[in-house]
Amino acid sequence: MAESFAPVRAEPLIGRLAIIGMGLIGSSLARAARELNLAGEIAAADRDEAVTQRVRALGLADLATTSAAEAAKGAGLVILCVPVGACAAVTAAIAGALAPGAILSDVGSVKGAVVDQVGPLVPGGVHFIPAHPVAGTEHSGPDAGFASLFLSRWCILTPPEGADAGAVALLRAYWEAMGAIVEVMTPAHHDLVLAITSHLPHLIAYNIVGTANDLEKVTQSEVIKFSAGGFRDFTRIAASDPTMWRDVFLHNKDAVLEMLGRFSEDLAILTRAIRFGDGETLHRHFTRTRAIRRGIVSLGQDKPETEKLKR
Ligand code: NAP
Repeated sequence: MAESFAPVRAEPLIGRLAIIGMGLIGSSLARAARELNLAGEIAAADRDEAVTQRVRALGLADLATTSAAEAAKGAGLVILCVPVGACAAVTAAIAGALAPGAILSDVGSVKGAVVDQVGPLVPGGVHFIPAHPVAGTEHSGPDAGFASLFLSRWCILTPPEGADAGAVALLRAYWEAMGAIVEVMTPAHHDLVLAITSHLPHLIAYNIVGTANDLEKVTQSEVIKFSAGGFRDFTRIAASDPTMWRDVFLHNKDAVLEMLGRFSEDLAILTRAIRFGDGETLHRHFTRTRAIRRGIVSLGQDKPETEKLKR
Protein backbone atom coordinates (compact mmCIF):
# COMPACT_ATOMS: atom_id res chain seq x y z
CA MET A 1 0.00 0.00 0.00
CA ALA A 2 1.27 3.50 -0.84
CA GLU A 3 2.68 5.48 2.08
CA SER A 4 0.12 7.88 3.53
CA PHE A 5 0.66 11.51 4.54
CA ALA A 6 -0.19 10.77 8.20
CA PRO A 7 -0.22 7.51 10.21
CA VAL A 8 -3.01 5.09 9.24
CA ARG A 9 -4.93 4.05 12.34
CA ALA A 10 -5.15 0.39 13.28
CA GLU A 11 -8.60 1.06 14.80
CA PRO A 12 -11.00 3.85 13.73
CA LEU A 13 -11.41 6.76 16.16
CA ILE A 14 -15.20 6.79 15.75
CA GLY A 15 -18.01 4.58 14.46
CA ARG A 16 -20.10 6.41 11.88
CA LEU A 17 -18.85 9.73 10.54
CA ALA A 18 -21.53 11.86 8.89
CA ILE A 19 -20.45 14.65 6.57
CA ILE A 20 -23.14 17.09 5.49
CA GLY A 21 -22.13 18.97 2.34
CA MET A 22 -19.67 17.24 -0.01
CA GLY A 23 -17.81 20.24 -1.38
CA LEU A 24 -14.10 21.02 -1.04
CA ILE A 25 -13.98 20.63 2.76
CA GLY A 26 -16.54 17.80 3.10
CA SER A 27 -14.92 15.69 0.39
CA SER A 28 -11.45 16.32 1.87
CA LEU A 29 -12.71 15.07 5.25
CA ALA A 30 -14.17 11.97 3.58
CA ARG A 31 -10.93 11.26 1.73
CA ALA A 32 -8.85 11.67 4.90
CA ALA A 33 -11.23 9.43 6.89
CA ARG A 34 -10.96 6.73 4.20
CA GLU A 35 -7.21 6.96 3.69
CA LEU A 36 -6.32 7.05 7.40
CA ASN A 37 -9.01 4.65 8.71
CA LEU A 38 -10.50 7.32 11.01
CA ALA A 39 -14.12 6.12 10.94
CA GLY A 40 -15.84 2.72 10.88
CA GLU A 41 -18.36 4.02 8.35
CA ILE A 42 -18.59 7.20 6.28
CA ALA A 43 -22.03 8.63 5.51
CA ALA A 44 -22.12 11.60 3.15
CA ALA A 45 -25.06 13.90 2.44
CA ASP A 46 -25.44 16.56 -0.21
CA ARG A 47 -28.63 18.31 -1.25
CA ASP A 48 -27.65 17.87 -4.92
CA GLU A 49 -28.38 14.40 -6.33
CA ALA A 50 -25.65 14.84 -8.97
CA VAL A 51 -23.09 15.40 -6.19
CA THR A 52 -24.16 12.24 -4.34
CA GLN A 53 -23.71 10.31 -7.61
CA ARG A 54 -20.24 11.78 -7.98
CA VAL A 55 -19.43 10.85 -4.35
CA ARG A 56 -20.43 7.26 -5.14
CA ALA A 57 -18.37 7.23 -8.34
CA LEU A 58 -15.32 8.51 -6.46
CA GLY A 59 -15.88 5.95 -3.69
CA LEU A 60 -15.72 8.64 -1.00
CA ALA A 61 -18.37 7.20 1.32
CA ASP A 62 -20.22 4.02 2.32
CA LEU A 63 -23.52 5.89 2.06
CA ALA A 64 -24.22 8.89 -0.19
CA THR A 65 -27.65 10.43 0.19
CA THR A 66 -29.55 13.68 -0.37
CA SER A 67 -31.04 13.31 3.12
CA ALA A 68 -28.85 14.93 5.80
CA ALA A 69 -30.99 13.26 8.51
CA GLU A 70 -30.39 9.80 7.02
CA ALA A 71 -26.62 10.40 7.04
CA ALA A 72 -26.64 11.76 10.61
CA LYS A 73 -28.62 8.81 12.00
CA GLY A 74 -26.47 6.80 14.42
CA ALA A 75 -23.34 8.87 13.74
CA GLY A 76 -20.81 9.43 16.52
CA LEU A 77 -19.48 12.52 14.76
CA VAL A 78 -21.49 14.78 12.44
CA ILE A 79 -19.63 17.56 10.64
CA LEU A 80 -21.53 20.34 8.86
CA CYS A 81 -19.58 21.35 5.73
CA VAL A 82 -22.03 23.85 4.26
CA PRO A 83 -21.84 27.66 4.00
CA VAL A 84 -22.12 29.44 7.37
CA GLY A 85 -25.59 30.78 6.52
CA ALA A 86 -26.91 27.24 5.89
CA CYS A 87 -25.72 25.65 9.17
CA ALA A 88 -28.87 26.44 11.19
CA ALA A 89 -31.30 25.07 8.59
CA VAL A 90 -29.25 21.88 8.21
CA THR A 91 -29.11 21.45 12.01
CA ALA A 92 -32.89 21.84 12.25
CA ALA A 93 -33.25 19.14 9.58
CA ILE A 94 -30.99 16.64 11.36
CA ALA A 95 -31.77 17.43 15.02
CA GLY A 96 -34.25 14.56 15.36
CA ALA A 97 -31.74 12.07 13.96
CA LEU A 98 -28.83 12.97 16.25
CA ALA A 99 -28.00 10.24 18.74
CA PRO A 100 -27.44 11.14 22.41
CA GLY A 101 -23.69 11.37 23.05
CA ALA A 102 -22.94 12.28 19.42
CA ILE A 103 -20.63 15.16 18.60
CA LEU A 104 -22.02 17.82 16.25
CA SER A 105 -19.34 20.01 14.70
CA ASP A 106 -18.89 22.25 11.68
CA VAL A 107 -16.08 23.77 9.62
CA GLY A 108 -17.53 27.26 9.10
CA SER A 109 -15.16 30.18 8.59
CA VAL A 110 -17.15 32.27 11.11
CA LYS A 111 -17.79 30.98 14.62
CA GLY A 112 -19.86 33.51 16.64
CA ALA A 113 -22.84 33.42 14.29
CA VAL A 114 -22.73 29.61 14.02
CA VAL A 115 -22.70 29.28 17.83
CA ASP A 116 -25.63 31.74 18.15
CA GLN A 117 -27.72 30.20 15.38
CA VAL A 118 -26.96 26.49 15.72
CA GLY A 119 -26.52 26.23 19.51
CA PRO A 120 -30.21 26.59 20.43
CA LEU A 121 -31.20 23.89 17.91
CA VAL A 122 -28.91 21.18 19.30
CA PRO A 123 -30.85 18.52 21.27
CA GLY A 124 -29.87 17.80 24.88
CA GLY A 125 -27.24 15.08 25.22
CA VAL A 126 -25.57 16.01 21.90
CA HIS A 127 -22.15 17.69 22.22
CA PHE A 128 -21.93 20.77 20.01
CA ILE A 129 -18.28 21.70 19.38
CA PRO A 130 -17.72 24.16 16.53
CA ALA A 131 -14.46 24.02 14.58
CA HIS A 132 -12.70 25.82 11.74
CA PRO A 133 -9.83 24.29 9.79
CA VAL A 134 -7.68 27.16 8.53
CA ALA A 135 -6.99 25.46 5.23
CA GLY A 136 -8.58 25.69 1.82
CA THR A 137 -8.28 26.49 -1.84
CA GLU A 138 -10.30 28.57 -4.29
CA HIS A 139 -11.91 25.41 -5.72
CA SER A 140 -15.32 23.93 -4.86
CA GLY A 141 -17.19 20.66 -5.12
CA PRO A 142 -16.45 16.95 -4.49
CA ASP A 143 -13.65 16.72 -7.06
CA ALA A 144 -11.72 19.61 -5.48
CA GLY A 145 -10.99 17.89 -2.16
CA PHE A 146 -7.83 16.02 -1.19
CA ALA A 147 -6.93 13.98 1.88
CA SER A 148 -3.88 15.98 2.97
CA LEU A 149 -5.63 19.38 2.91
CA PHE A 150 -5.50 19.73 6.70
CA LEU A 151 -1.93 18.45 7.13
CA SER A 152 0.24 20.96 9.05
CA ARG A 153 -2.59 23.50 9.12
CA TRP A 154 -4.29 24.92 12.19
CA CYS A 155 -7.78 23.82 13.19
CA ILE A 156 -9.46 26.11 15.72
CA LEU A 157 -12.03 24.63 18.11
CA THR A 158 -14.45 26.95 19.91
CA PRO A 159 -16.19 24.73 22.49
CA PRO A 160 -18.97 26.45 24.45
CA GLU A 161 -18.36 27.02 28.15
CA GLY A 162 -18.99 23.79 30.09
CA ALA A 163 -18.58 21.60 26.98
CA ASP A 164 -17.94 17.93 27.69
CA ALA A 165 -14.16 17.52 28.08
CA GLY A 166 -14.19 14.00 26.63
CA ALA A 167 -16.01 15.16 23.50
CA VAL A 168 -13.59 18.08 23.02
CA ALA A 169 -10.63 15.71 23.46
CA LEU A 170 -12.08 13.29 20.88
CA LEU A 171 -12.65 16.05 18.32
CA ARG A 172 -9.12 17.35 18.95
CA ALA A 173 -7.73 13.84 18.45
CA TYR A 174 -9.77 13.51 15.25
CA TRP A 175 -8.27 16.65 13.69
CA GLU A 176 -4.79 15.77 14.93
CA ALA A 177 -5.11 12.36 13.27
CA MET A 178 -5.46 14.24 9.95
CA GLY A 179 -2.21 16.08 10.67
CA ALA A 180 -3.83 19.32 11.84
CA ILE A 181 -2.53 21.43 14.73
CA VAL A 182 -5.39 22.20 17.09
CA GLU A 183 -5.90 25.40 19.04
CA VAL A 184 -8.84 26.33 21.28
CA MET A 185 -10.25 29.87 21.54
CA THR A 186 -13.52 31.73 22.04
CA PRO A 187 -15.77 32.31 19.02
CA ALA A 188 -15.40 36.10 19.38
CA HIS A 189 -11.61 35.94 19.37
CA HIS A 190 -11.63 33.53 16.41
CA ASP A 191 -13.79 35.95 14.42
CA LEU A 192 -11.49 38.90 15.17
CA VAL A 193 -8.32 37.02 14.26
CA LEU A 194 -9.78 35.58 11.05
CA ALA A 195 -11.22 38.98 10.08
CA ILE A 196 -7.67 40.28 9.57
CA THR A 197 -5.91 37.08 8.43
CA SER A 198 -8.56 35.76 6.02
CA HIS A 199 -11.72 37.81 5.60
CA LEU A 200 -10.15 41.22 4.90
CA PRO A 201 -7.58 39.78 2.43
CA HIS A 202 -10.45 38.16 0.52
CA LEU A 203 -12.41 41.43 0.47
CA ILE A 204 -9.36 43.30 -0.81
CA ALA A 205 -8.79 40.67 -3.50
CA TYR A 206 -12.44 40.75 -4.63
CA ASN A 207 -12.22 44.54 -4.73
CA ILE A 208 -8.94 44.92 -6.63
CA VAL A 209 -9.91 42.34 -9.23
CA GLY A 210 -13.27 44.10 -9.66
CA THR A 211 -11.49 47.46 -10.06
CA ALA A 212 -9.16 46.05 -12.74
CA ASN A 213 -12.17 44.62 -14.53
CA ASP A 214 -13.85 48.04 -14.66
CA LEU A 215 -10.88 50.05 -16.02
CA GLU A 216 -11.37 51.80 -19.35
CA LYS A 217 -7.83 52.84 -20.27
CA VAL A 218 -6.15 49.50 -19.45
CA THR A 219 -7.58 46.60 -21.41
CA GLN A 220 -8.57 43.27 -19.85
CA SER A 221 -6.03 41.47 -22.03
CA GLU A 222 -3.29 43.74 -20.64
CA VAL A 223 -4.41 43.01 -17.07
CA ILE A 224 -4.16 39.28 -17.78
CA LYS A 225 -0.91 39.52 -19.75
CA PHE A 226 0.98 41.50 -17.10
CA SER A 227 -0.61 39.84 -14.06
CA ALA A 228 2.67 38.38 -12.75
CA GLY A 229 3.45 41.88 -11.42
CA GLY A 230 1.38 41.07 -8.32
CA PHE A 231 -2.22 41.00 -9.56
CA ARG A 232 -2.13 37.24 -10.24
CA ASP A 233 -2.07 36.31 -6.53
CA PHE A 234 -5.19 38.39 -5.92
CA THR A 235 -7.05 36.68 -8.77
CA ARG A 236 -6.57 33.27 -7.14
CA ILE A 237 -8.18 34.48 -3.92
CA ALA A 238 -10.90 36.37 -5.81
CA ALA A 239 -11.87 33.11 -7.58
CA SER A 240 -13.13 31.68 -4.25
CA ASP A 241 -16.71 30.47 -3.88
CA PRO A 242 -19.15 33.45 -3.96
CA THR A 243 -21.79 31.83 -1.69
CA MET A 244 -19.27 30.88 0.99
CA TRP A 245 -17.76 34.36 1.03
CA ARG A 246 -21.07 36.19 0.91
CA ASP A 247 -22.00 34.28 4.08
CA VAL A 248 -18.65 35.04 5.75
CA PHE A 249 -19.12 38.81 5.35
CA LEU A 250 -22.79 38.74 6.34
CA HIS A 251 -22.02 36.73 9.49
CA ASN A 252 -18.78 38.36 10.65
CA LYS A 253 -19.93 41.91 10.00
CA ASP A 254 -18.68 43.63 13.17
CA ALA A 255 -15.15 42.20 13.19
CA VAL A 256 -14.71 42.81 9.44
CA LEU A 257 -15.95 46.41 9.73
CA GLU A 258 -13.54 46.99 12.64
CA MET A 259 -10.56 45.69 10.59
CA LEU A 260 -11.73 47.53 7.47
CA GLY A 261 -11.77 50.79 9.43
CA ARG A 262 -8.19 50.28 10.57
CA PHE A 263 -7.14 49.24 7.08
CA SER A 264 -8.65 52.43 5.59
CA GLU A 265 -6.83 54.61 8.15
CA ASP A 266 -3.49 52.96 7.34
CA LEU A 267 -4.17 53.23 3.61
CA ALA A 268 -4.79 56.96 4.04
CA ILE A 269 -1.32 57.30 5.63
CA LEU A 270 0.31 55.52 2.68
CA THR A 271 -1.74 57.58 0.21
CA ARG A 272 -0.53 60.76 1.89
CA ALA A 273 3.09 59.57 1.86
CA ILE A 274 2.90 58.90 -1.89
CA ARG A 275 1.21 62.24 -2.58
CA PHE A 276 3.82 64.25 -0.63
CA GLY A 277 6.84 62.18 -1.74
CA ASP A 278 7.47 60.94 1.81
CA GLY A 279 9.83 58.07 0.93
CA GLU A 280 10.92 57.64 4.54
CA THR A 281 7.39 56.71 5.68
CA LEU A 282 6.98 54.30 2.77
CA HIS A 283 10.35 52.64 3.37
CA ARG A 284 9.75 52.30 7.12
CA HIS A 285 6.34 50.70 6.49
CA PHE A 286 7.60 48.26 3.84
CA THR A 287 10.51 47.23 6.10
CA ARG A 288 8.20 46.49 9.05
CA THR A 289 5.89 44.29 6.97
CA ARG A 290 8.74 42.04 5.79
CA ALA A 291 9.02 40.62 9.32
CA ILE A 292 5.48 39.17 9.14
CA ARG A 293 6.39 37.22 6.00
CA ARG A 294 9.51 35.84 7.67
CA GLY A 295 7.37 34.70 10.63
CA ILE A 296 4.98 32.84 8.30
CA VAL A 297 7.89 31.14 6.53
CA SER A 298 9.50 30.09 9.82
CA LEU A 299 6.20 28.43 10.91
CA GLY A 300 6.03 26.50 7.61
CA GLN A 301 2.76 28.22 6.60
CA ASP A 302 4.08 29.84 3.40
CA LYS A 303 3.22 27.14 0.83
CA PRO A 304 -0.22 27.11 -0.84
CA GLU A 305 -2.39 24.03 -0.10
CA THR A 306 -2.10 22.86 -3.70
CA GLU A 307 1.66 22.28 -3.19
CA LYS A 308 0.63 19.27 -1.05
CA LEU A 309 -0.91 17.65 -4.12
CA LYS A 310 2.60 17.38 -5.59
CA ARG A 311 3.80 15.16 -2.75
P1 NAP B 1 -18.10 24.13 -1.42
O1 NAP B 1 -17.04 23.32 -2.06
O2 NAP B 1 -18.78 25.19 -2.23
O3 NAP B 1 -19.22 23.17 -0.81
C1 NAP B 1 -20.33 23.71 -0.15
C2 NAP B 1 -21.30 22.60 0.17
O4 NAP B 1 -22.41 23.17 0.89
C3 NAP B 1 -21.88 21.91 -1.05
O5 NAP B 1 -22.04 20.56 -0.73
C4 NAP B 1 -23.22 22.62 -1.22
O6 NAP B 1 -24.20 21.85 -1.84
C5 NAP B 1 -23.62 22.81 0.21
N1 NAP B 1 -24.61 23.87 0.36
C6 NAP B 1 -24.54 25.13 -0.12
N2 NAP B 1 -25.63 25.83 0.26
C7 NAP B 1 -26.39 24.98 0.98
C8 NAP B 1 -27.65 25.10 1.62
N3 NAP B 1 -28.32 26.27 1.62
N4 NAP B 1 -28.15 24.01 2.26
C9 NAP B 1 -27.48 22.83 2.28
N5 NAP B 1 -26.28 22.66 1.68
C10 NAP B 1 -25.75 23.72 1.04
O7 NAP B 1 -17.59 24.89 -0.12
P2 NAP B 1 -16.44 24.54 0.92
O8 NAP B 1 -15.23 25.30 0.53
O9 NAP B 1 -16.36 23.08 1.12
O10 NAP B 1 -17.02 25.27 2.21
C11 NAP B 1 -17.84 24.61 3.15
C12 NAP B 1 -17.66 25.27 4.52
O11 NAP B 1 -16.27 25.22 4.86
C13 NAP B 1 -18.08 26.74 4.59
O12 NAP B 1 -18.76 26.97 5.79
C14 NAP B 1 -16.75 27.49 4.62
O13 NAP B 1 -16.87 28.69 5.37
C15 NAP B 1 -15.83 26.49 5.32
N6 NAP B 1 -14.41 26.60 4.98
C16 NAP B 1 -14.02 26.77 3.69
C17 NAP B 1 -12.68 26.89 3.39
C18 NAP B 1 -12.21 27.13 1.97
O14 NAP B 1 -11.10 27.63 1.76
N7 NAP B 1 -12.99 26.79 0.96
C19 NAP B 1 -11.72 26.78 4.41
C20 NAP B 1 -12.14 26.54 5.71
C21 NAP B 1 -13.50 26.46 5.99
P3 NAP B 1 -24.30 21.73 -3.45
O15 NAP B 1 -23.60 20.45 -3.79
O16 NAP B 1 -25.75 21.71 -3.74
O17 NAP B 1 -23.61 22.94 -4.03
